[in-house]
Amino acid sequence: MTTVLITHPAFLNHDTGEHHPERPDRMRAIDKALSADTFAELFHREAPLRDDDKTYIELTHGPQHLANVTAAIENMASGHRQVDSDTVASPGSWEAARRGVGAGLDAVDLVMTGKVTNAFCQVRPPGHHAESNRAMGFCFFNNIAIAAHYAREKYGAERVAVVDFDVHHGNGTQEIFWSDKDLFYGSTHQMPLYPGTGALRETGVGNIFNAPLRSGDGREPFEEAFRQRILAPLHNFSPDVVLISAGFDAHHRDPLAGLELVEDDFQWATEALADVARRHSKGRIVSMLEGGYDLKGLALSAAAHVKALLDADA
Ligand code: ZN
Repeated sequence: MTTVLITHPAFLNHDTGEHHPERPDRMRAIDKALSADTFAELFHREAPLRDDDKTYIELTHGPQHLANVTAAIENMASGHRQVDSDTVASPGSWEAARRGVGAGLDAVDLVMTGKVTNAFCQVRPPGHHAESNRAMGFCFFNNIAIAAHYAREKYGAERVAVVDFDVHHGNGTQEIFWSDKDLFYGSTHQMPLYPGTGALRETGVGNIFNAPLRSGDGREPFEEAFRQRILAPLHNFSPDVVLISAGFDAHHRDPLAGLELVEDDFQWATEALADVARRHSKGRIVSMLEGGYDLKGLALSAAAHVKALLDADA
């Protein structure tokens, strides 16, 4: 078994306009990094447009949000449309958003049926800020929450965990998981920072584990927070599958935030999650790209993350 990389050229066609940090070059930077010989063993798959994606978007977001996003971006002929203060759509956005969801569903299929051990979905737009009824923070649909619900609905996974090391708090995933004790959400993030949620006291029904960090924090506080506030409760939760909201904007080069991580720290976090997955969930991991806005920091970090997924498989 192996690691699958799921992506698609259509992700380049989600055009957010000039000077937007969440831009197509992010895909090109990761493509280049993952074309190195180190990654020759990756199994490649195109992110699909699926017939059943709307069923699972509705399961997570409800029909109104799907209807709102569809009305806003499905039939754009040209130009840009501002869907929220920093979420911009273009004519290519609808297909990209659906293939982003499709990548997560496909990854769950491959991992839960044992065809691969783990998966990295190199997608955009990202998802973790999208709430049940609101597009926000560059996100239309919450890709990772949809994948979590799908793992449960389609494969009977009893406990599904999402661990989110993006520098921003995944307010959308937290909101969607808030009152469901069989869905775990654990997040390290800078605070204060957009979107403003993610305090320690936000605990849901005992299923939400926030580990806020301060601007300037680097490896030591990150590892300590990750171990104590995420990994320890994650072991107790004993997930059937581990999902990762893999944002790489906590890298010290990133222009949107002030944490001081390096690519090796993402490798360490991935190895730690792979260890949990080995012990509780047959190694099953589905990772989905979230943020990361410095192209060099993003490429180095994504490469370190995917290398750790490949090594976990060996
Ligand atoms: Zn982010």
